[in-house]
Amino acid sequence: MNLRDLDVYFNYHTHTNRNGHGNRTATDEDYVRAAMETGIRILGFSEHCPYQGVSQPMARPGWDVIPEYFSSLGKLKEKYRDRCEILIGFECEYYPNHIDDVRKLKEMSDYIILGQHFNTVDNPDFYCYAFRCGDEGALEYTENVLKGLDTGMYDILAHPDYFFGGTNDIDDVFVECAHRICQKCEETKTPMEINFNGVSWHAGKNQYKQGPHYFYPNRLFWEIACKYDIRCVIGLDAHDPDVFRRRETLFNMLSEEVDDLGLEFLTEPFLHAKER
Ligand SMILES: [Zn+2]
Ligand SMILES: [Zn+2]
Repeated sequence: MNLRDLDVYFNYHTHTNRNGHGNRTATDEDYVRAAMETGIRILGFSEHCPYQGVSQPMARPGWDVIPEYFSSLGKLKEKYRDRCEILIGFECEYYPNHIDDVRKLKEMSDYIILGQHFNTVDNPDFYCYAFRCGDEGALEYTENVLKGLDTGMYDILAHPDYFFGGTNDIDDVFVECAHRICQKCEETKTPMEINFNGVSWHAGKNQYKQGPHYFYPNRLFWEIACKYDIRCVIGLDAHDPDVFRRRETLFNMLSEEVDDLGLEFLTEPFLHAKER
């Protein structure tokens, strides 16, 4: 199916002003309004998750923000309930020593997406897989993604190709890692996200030994993914309400990138707000 022809009226990947790196002044309501203006009827918020005892102000809010996050989004959920279904979730990594935090967040929220960004959150010398990775990082990224998916706690694998941004040569190790991730998504039936942030934020293409490609979605990864029995989901990964308004342009850009691969997209919403 062509990306350009998709009528996607749901988005499960939306951030807020609480993460220290997106739009700092946009309110939660600004996101809801921008989404509704562009035809979104099911809007999932998935802010970068806090971890207990972790301070990473440029990446995520602290644990103490949780009540305010739920209360602000809960009010909007009520206010717009006739026009838009609002879900409250988080984007979490998988770290064995923080899995209890993820379990607690899963319990209190509507859904959790797996976005494996950093090698660690417990050390100030952390690095981000999208910018620095190498073979060792690729293997570590893959191990954590696989273990995360095996927990059954994560509803979507966000930007599975994130680590492809961390190198300029997609060597055999990266290819093997991509196969293992796709295999695991097939096995666990976890939808894989085509993430728009690598195009909307990291403007232009990265120069690889294999040619120019977006950080993510990285065509080299999706050429592998299309060989598996997997379902794909679009994720705007909005860090700014304006991303909703630029949706059509972004869809067209990505259409050119992946349309010929024959990926199967989920066209109906598959996550809903829990009854409370
Ligand atoms: Zn992410
Ligand atoms: Zn995100």
